[in-house]
Amino acid sequence: MMASQDSFQEILKRHQQSPPVKVGDIARDLGLKVMVADLPLGISGKLSKDESGVWTIRVNRGEPKSRQRFTIAHEIAHFVLHRTQIEDDLNSELADDTFYRSGLSKRIEWEANRLAAEIVMPWHLIDQATGVNRMTPAALADQLQVSEVALRIRLGLAD
Ligand SMILES: [Zn+2]
Repeated sequence: MMASQDSFQEILKRHQQSPPVKVGDIARDLGLKVMVADLPLGISGKLSKDESGVWTIRVNRGEPKSRQRFTIAHEIAHFVLHRTQIEDDLNSELADDTFYRSGLSKRIEWEANRLAAEIVMPWHLIDQATGVNRMTPAALADQLQVSEVALRIRLGLAD
């Protein structure tokens, strides 16, 4: 089976069936390599294409697991939405700092954050947990392996 023939939506659906969302598997099925790496302090993630055309996501080993998962989703979003621009404008290498600033525009970073939230915190899993199971934001964040801050932003509960 050629994973690359599946659409992004099909790949997402396959790995969003139960919490936590399998972000590494989503990346793999898109043909991306994921590495937990020694990145400089203040850099959360990188997305780059090597000479053989393979795209790799690197996440900072020093950051919490939940944060690494969001960063992987953020870089997946850049790959899906912005890779042509990354090739053309950034010479095929993007580095996101801890505020997800990369040298691309604020609008592009907003798009990547929005899609990243849809990847790691899909509404059908949130609705299951908060509806039938009456789960608190803290418990749901734990189940989804995301930070409670990220979840509260998603739920519209942030200040
Ligand atoms: Zn970014």
